Amino acid sequence: MDGKQVWAEMLEGNRRFVRGERRAYDFASRRAELLAGQKCRVTLLTCSDSRVVPEFIFDTNLGDLFDVETAGNVVDEVGLGTIEYGVEHLGTPLLLILGHTRCGAVTACCREGGRGHGNLDSILDRLAPAVERARRDIDQAILENLRQTKREILEKSEVVRRHVAEGRLEVVTALYRLETGEVVPVE
Ligand SMILES: [Zn+2]
Repeated sequence: MDGKQVWAEMLEGNRRFVRGERRAYDFASRRAELLAGQKCRVTLLTCSDSRVVPEFIFDTNLGDLFDVETAGNVVDEVGLGTIEYGVEHLGTPLLLILGHTRCGAVTACCREGGRGHGNLDSILDRLAPAVERARRDIDQAILENLRQTKREILEKSEVVRRHVAEGRLEVVTALYRLETGEVVPVE
């Protein structure tokens, strides 16, 4: 299955989630099956927000999604290394960067910004360029942050660039709407 097919399947799972029709997965047998190793379909970067749970949102099973979660879905070296593990070693054909409406991290950066928040500063620093480009408009900053994160991943990861160039990886940015449960692609 290529990245585009996987993405279509993910959106299909999201439509089930929106309708409240979750698949009845047999976790016990799947746990046993996965002891031989994980064969994920998606490497996924999203926000740590407790309302954004990828396995629920896309109605997926154990072992389907290789998740990286940080406040504001920003990436540092550890995040990039984790993404590269998913892309190169697990061979996922899709890298999904998922932001969400009402993101607390982006909102904090739009409203306060600045420094003096301890280790949170490293997150705010990464969000700041997108927030400035969006002129501190929260909804726009959330979208701008997705574009910025995608650019940053492509700039800093030779592994991701190579997999894209070889046609083995699709990189998709999308927005999860807390209000409706739906995921919409973002250009
Ligand atoms: Zn968030």
